[in-house]
Amino acid sequence: MKLSKVVAASAAVLALTATATACGSDNKDDSGSSGGGKIKVGIKYDQPGLGLKQPDGSFSGFDVDVATYVAKELGYKPSQIEFVETKSADRENALQRGDVKFIAATYSITDERKAKVDFAGPYLLAHQDLLVKADSDITKGTDLNGKKLCSVTGSTSAENVKNTIAPKANLRKYSGYSECIAGLQSGAVDAVTTDDSILAGFAAQDKYKGQFKLAGLKLSNENYGVGIKKGDSALEKKINAALTKMVGDGAWEAAVKKNFGTSYKNEPAPKVGVIVK
Ligand code: GLU
Repeated sequence: MKLSKVVAASAAVLALTATATACGSDNKDDSGSSGGGKIKVGIKYDQPGLGLKQPDGSFSGFDVDVATYVAKELGYKPSQIEFVETKSADRENALQRGDVKFIAATYSITDERKAKVDFAGPYLLAHQDLLVKADSDITKGTDLNGKKLCSVTGSTSAENVKNTIAPKANLRKYSGYSECIAGLQSGAVDAVTTDDSILAGFAAQDKYKGQFKLAGLKLSNENYGVGIKKGDSALEKKINAALTKMVGDGAWEAAVKKNFGTSYKNEPAPKVGVIVK
């Protein structure tokens, strides 16, 4: 090949690459208030009080309200938000692939996850706890050894059971907490473990009233962050500013009251950038 042809060929490759980048998933949802573009946001679909898809297709919960506020600050109206289900085990992949712009899904900030994604926040501090039947005699972590315990694949809750709380528990991992709750009700498992915020939301549902109780143990600190693609420091800054504003203008407290009511006694608003170890 003559030199001129080599140059022409490389130019063609470059042009193709540029076109591919322009059409990449990162750009199509970036128009914000300047246009009718959409923003894709990852939430949970099966966690009452936090992220729940209602039978009519609408969404409710504290994470949904945080996500809606953050999206507003990024320039998107509620009608421009497309919620996408991000189960515990799918979150890092969804961000790495660019399936969603950010995730607000009871997503704890951890060093392990920070190797793959970045986090804004934290915006809520929760603690790992146990949910058992109302008449259960399980009261502490070590009571779980030898018992059937349910948690979710890809969660810190399941990791903590294996590593510290009850290594000899018979741990079953499902893909979502609603499946664990069904297992607790049917007697297939003796306890469910995850964040107290999540467990309280299930326990408060009319259909479960009086059936379950929380052990009330603070087995860990779970600092909920807004997950974003690794390296997007501009987005991280914007979301941190949005979260700080949400606490400052009272919208955070209003979202707490609306979604947790009397069912969950939450910790005060965390300071952005401060992780409780
Ligand atoms: N907050 C914990 C975590 O990020 C448990 C809840 C969940 O699985 O979403 O793993």
